[in-house]
Amino acid sequence: MTTPLLGQMMDVPLTVSSLIAHAARHFGSTEIVSRRIEGDMHRYTYRDCETRAKRLAQALIGLGVQPGERIGTLAWNGYRHLEVYYGTTGFGAVCHTINPRLFPDQIAWIINDAQDSYVMFDTTFAPLVDCLAPRCPNVRGWIALADEAHLPHLPMPTSTALISYETLLEPHDGAFGWPPLDERQASYLCYTSGTTGNPKGALYSHRSTVLHAFGASLPDAMCLSARDSVLPVVPMFHVNAWGIPHSAPLTGAKLVFPGKDLDGKSLFELMEAEGVTYSAGVPTVWLGLLNYMKEAGVRFSTLQRTVIGGSACPPAMLRTFEDDYGVEVIHAWGMTEMSPLGTLAKLTWEQSQRPPDEQRKLREKQGHVMYGVDMKIVGDDGRDLPWDGVAFGDLHVRGPWVIKRYFQKDDSPLVDGWFPTGDVATIDPDGFLHITDRSKDVIKSGGEWISSIDLENVAIAHPAVAEAACIACAHPKWTERPLLVIVKRPGADVTREELLAFYEGKVAKWWIPDDVVFVDELPHTATGKLQKLKLREMFREHVLPSALDIADCPFKVPS
Ligand code: AMP
Repeated sequence: MTTPLLGQMMDVPLTVSSLIAHAARHFGSTEIVSRRIEGDMHRYTYRDCETRAKRLAQALIGLGVQPGERIGTLAWNGYRHLEVYYGTTGFGAVCHTINPRLFPDQIAWIINDAQDSYVMFDTTFAPLVDCLAPRCPNVRGWIALADEAHLPHLPMPTSTALISYETLLEPHDGAFGWPPLDERQASYLCYTSGTTGNPKGALYSHRSTVLHAFGASLPDAMCLSARDSVLPVVPMFHVNAWGIPHSAPLTGAKLVFPGKDLDGKSLFELMEAEGVTYSAGVPTVWLGLLNYMKEAGVRFSTLQRTVIGGSACPPAMLRTFEDDYGVEVIHAWGMTEMSPLGTLAKLTWEQSQRPPDEQRKLREKQGHVMYGVDMKIVGDDGRDLPWDGVAFGDLHVRGPWVIKRYFQKDDSPLVDGWFPTGDVATIDPDGFLHITDRSKDVIKSGGEWISSIDLENVAIAHPAVAEAACIACAHPKWTERPLLVIVKRPGADVTREELLAFYEGKVAKWWIPDDVVFVDELPHTATGKLQKLKLREMFREHVLPSALDIADCPFKVPS
């Protein structure tokens, strides 16, 4: 056997630290602007950011944090959160971003499952930390992303520290070289509730993070450049804000962080003040922004493009952005398990010569895969289905930024080397993906998951309930909201209000179903499995009472 001929190129590992080092060295004076939790604006540069990230790395190493250890974050989009991204991964620790919107029990479960040794938190989450600290005995310290003056007063269990981030950085000078790392080492950990059972962790590597940043920056993906001012509305606790904190330093784009205020007025004012050209977020956020703009009679003066994903972009929203405000919408699809980007609805030259209506129809779909992701649709028998825009089946993906297994799980979710997404789709002859349904048993409200199984388990614990099913029901503001379908026990009685009250204290408030309907029986398969698809079909036209409150909402959710 002949030895393969090796290329004679430098072996430079693809590490996350190389992104911030690149930005600091070559776009050193480019700004990062943040609206702070403290209420004021903060501005500094990529150069300052790298120095502070290095000071954080020095501080964490001083605390004894070892490479591979998980550091949790409960934080909004802001410059300190960005420093934590780089100050942890830069020396081999793993940055574990946690969704603070989850119920405290779930967050505690996630922190314990991930075995986070420290958790960094924005002071807005102090009450949450108060509730979490006694339940997370392995956390050695809770680090408030604040100076000493803003350190919240929180009782801590013995041998657990409460530390001010600024005090922690204080003794360190940033004279620190990012150590060389194996590019396959873990970089970030993100849990997703987008499947059944307990949340599962997607553990990215340095290589997957950097490759994803490269891919995301391409012209037919997010199309970022050193002339852009980028405002990620999508949270840094949700799949690394779709990779923007990595592709912005890679391209030298200015970063603008909105902090905790994501209402239409706050976002609009920040975009205008900072010359934002590009933004990204879920449909619900854009709804708030567009409604504010309509009411206030204001227009964007700098925004050029926005990526909308996380849930299907309503066609009317796409039209409003483009026809009323001249802002290009890029509809994107992806998932936590894919770092997250998979497809984006950008046209080829040939497609852009077609009649405008046809172009719109294509761009309302989830789009074309980017290099780095391959996809296929398969039927119930596991065989590939044709790309004819008609046949629909389970969507499977693979690629260097797709997970091969979940964190700390031995069994692989892969089917013949492909990751089953739980989405049901068609692919047309143009290679455009269209998500038509979902086989996973979850509800996505305002871009965040709600477990239908958890909601059913609560309902079934009620003495008057014989069987319960929870399904996603279309909602004009939140895209989907939970609808509970109940079969009562013979002779027992319970009202809608009593059932909804039964959820209080058992799940997060925003998880509580919007409505309850009582039926004589639920549809089952021959093997007794609940037919959720059929049930969703039965209640497709159901109007939730909360949806009536916003009847003037200009957007209809596509059926
Ligand atoms: P997450 O892991 O929370 O990012 O959720 C990923 C899931 O959200 C996907 O598997 C889809 O079910 C859904 N999703 C994301 N983007 C879209 C989109 N553009 N259209 C429809 N569903 C989407």
